[in-house]
Amino acid sequence: MSAQLLDGKQISAEIIDEVRKGVDARTAAGKRAPALAVVLVGDDPASAVYVNNKKKACERAGFRSLSFEYPATLTEAELLDLVRKLNEDVEVDGILVQLPLPKHIDADKVIETINPNKDVDGFHPYNFGRLALKMPLLRPCTPHGVMVMLEKTGVDLAGKDAVVVGASNIVGRPAALELLLARATVTVCHSKTKDLASKIAAADVVVAGVGIPNFVKGEWIKPGAIVIDVGINRLDNGKLCGDVEFDVARERASWITPVPGGVGPMTIAMLMKNTLDACNALHP
Ligand code: NAP
Repeated sequence: MSAQLLDGKQISAEIIDEVRKGVDARTAAGKRAPALAVVLVGDDPASAVYVNNKKKACERAGFRSLSFEYPATLTEAELLDLVRKLNEDVEVDGILVQLPLPKHIDADKVIETINPNKDVDGFHPYNFGRLALKMPLLRPCTPHGVMVMLEKTGVDLAGKDAVVVGASNIVGRPAALELLLARATVTVCHSKTKDLASKIAAADVVVAGVGIPNFVKGEWIKPGAIVIDVGINRLDNGKLCGDVEFDVARERASWITPVPGGVGPMTIAMLMKNTLDACNALHP
């Protein structure tokens, strides 16, 4: 039997509608709308697309979006100065510095300079630490979006065996912490993991964030498992595909996310939610 699809476009539209209601409630009460500062350095085409999508989502949510775009020659000191100015600016609630940054800029240093209360990407060690300590505030957007999708299945994750493939700071690692928070039993796999196939074969939930097209073979999936594919890979023919061999996996899974139209739109929706939450916390 074919898996049910988790429609990221639909779920993210619902979340952005909810955020919009929160914004309308603020403005009806005489408060200003949230403002998100989006910083783009360099001319990476994928980053330009992501930033554009984030600006469009700001419009839909009723936010003010402030755009800061610089050539790749911007120095680290100049970027840190900008971040500090945005930290101080009472009209700004969220600061998003689009990654990756040019090689001469230390992304960790930039992230650590962002005021944690405005860290709407949830990448600051303070916010990451809060998630690790079961006290999440601003949560990393992609893994949070994954959890919202998992909630939509109606399956209780407590006690389920979850396998996360990938252990990066923006996808795998925080996804593992989120799943642990939901009381799943979590196995985190990475490039040194032995016998990945058997680990995936035992999993009730698979979250894949590797960055290799069709890396997770459909035949590895346990019948009835839930499969969340975070990967976004561009093929030579220009098409996007995920990290999971979708056509085969969907015949075994109970629920599966498509690529595109799965986790991607959820990331942006959770960014909107974080920005509203940050604004409400800073300016109740
Ligand atoms: P990344 O930083 O390159 O991390 C990739 C992870 O995969 C690493 O932990 C790496 O292991 C692991 N890995 C590599 N080869 C492996 C193998 N043979 N077996 C098992 N694990 C292996 O990538 P990322 O930034 O996390 O992104 C992953 C994917 O998610 C990409 O396709 C990216 O485009 C996509 N993404 C999507 C969204 C979204 O909004 N949907 C957001 C962010 C990223 P090591 O730790 O050992 O190196």
